[in-house]
Amino acid sequence: MRDDAPNSWESRADNASLYGFTDLPSVKERGAVVLTHGEGPYVVDVHGRRYLDANSGLWNMVAGFDHPGLAEAAKAQYDRFPGYHAFFGRMSDQTVLLSEKLVEVSPFERGRVFYTNSGSEANDTMVKMLWFLGLAEGQPQRRKILTRWNAYHGVTAVSASMTGKPYNSVFGLPLPGFLHLGCPHYWRFGQEGESEEQFTQRLANELEATIIKEGADTIAGFFAEPVMGAGGVIPPSKGYFQAVSRVLKKYGIPLIADEVICGFGRTGNTWGSQTYDFTPDAIISSKNITAGYFPMGAVILGPDLSDRLQAAAEAIEEFPHGFTASGHPVGCAIALKAIDVVMNEGLAENVRRLAPRMEAGLAEIARHPNIGELRGIGYMWALEAVKDRATKTPFPGTLSVSERIANTCTDHGLICRPLGQSIVLCPPFILTEGQMDEMFEKLDAALKKVFAEVA
Ligand SMILES: *Cc1c(COP(=O)(O)O)cnc(C)c1O
Repeated sequence: MRDDAPNSWESRADNASLYGFTDLPSVKERGAVVLTHGEGPYVVDVHGRRYLDANSGLWNMVAGFDHPGLAEAAKAQYDRFPGYHAFFGRMSDQTVLLSEKLVEVSPFERGRVFYTNSGSEANDTMVKMLWFLGLAEGQPQRRKILTRWNAYHGVTAVSASMTGKPYNSVFGLPLPGFLHLGCPHYWRFGQEGESEEQFTQRLANELEATIIKEGADTIAGFFAEPVMGAGGVIPPSKGYFQAVSRVLKKYGIPLIADEVICGFGRTGNTWGSQTYDFTPDAIISSKNITAGYFPMGAVILGPDLSDRLQAAAEAIEEFPHGFTASGHPVGCAIALKAIDVVMNEGLAENVRRLAPRMEAGLAEIARHPNIGELRGIGYMWALEAVKDRATKTPFPGTLSVSERIANTCTDHGLICRPLGQSIVLCPPFILTEGQMDEMFEKLDAALKKVFAEVA
């Protein structure tokens, strides 16, 4: 199926690329998919093949691949003021406007924003802020960071240390002081005879026991995605955030919501923390903040952290941190437009309206005996493949079942993502009923074909 001619796009991609997060046997056999452009939720490759991208690129292209308003906002800003930094007390007007907008749409009555180029850098920045605060407030020992197994917080040395995935061991990570707690996935980790409420309580107890063991005054913060994304779309167990919030409050430990995926509409509300009814101390945003039209991340600080960080910075007359492109005017102009498009052009509304239809369609597909669980919310869902539904036994890893399903989908013109033994579906917010049906049909056909081969 791949074109092996030395001048083919596939060969040229191989020759010049060190592929990241790519199943190399698949790419060796099939060749890279080299894309030229997109139309709505579809992308088109160099051979003219069209794919419905049910992953929104990497969760972020929520307005599709040819939104005219976003491209115009970028062009207009490139014409007006194509680049600037946010150091030395200078920044673009667009940066000021976006910060006001982010605080306005945040759950905070007031706050401050700091910009990065990515979600990883935003998490790194938040950790540095917490370390800075510990030192400034006379608690230099307050440096440990709590996250969960299966969490995804990025790939820089600090955010990879926060990520709770075994693959980071190839880098000798996590760094010391990054502690991982239980993953709130009841279906997978609930014990025999344990109710969901008891499971949640067990995780809250584990958190409290860890805080006591490590020493509450050594812990700088707890980071959590409202719904774990790259961990396999794992919504929290019932009451999870209420239970952990109670413990964190008791010990004065900040709760940071990593809303890089959930933020701006993915779960049906502006924030995932809204959907799960908890108030974090700060929010990490990226991905859909620009609808994927520009690399950008942001730390949005709630009132308490904002005041304390401002005071700590004033005490030494500077917060010595920032990226050359922090608060880039084009990124900010695009983000302002993207937030408007998602919130006011019916995109978030579309997610709210069609999420039940998505769930119903996937639930129909999930009746297949080799699907163990359907889980998700809004426009983020996962189907987990199992060899045996009753015992939740996974297929042997050597069968690469989820990779085979995703590759079969690709052959049928549907892009979805294998994650562990799950298939992830997180389409652009513009997805229509008809496109959703196309997704269901192609996915169902691929699942049946692969399960017939391996079961
Ligand atoms: C993607 C992601 C990140 C990392 O963002 P990058 O822009 O890839 O660095 C961090 N947190 C979550 C929850 C993410 O999904």
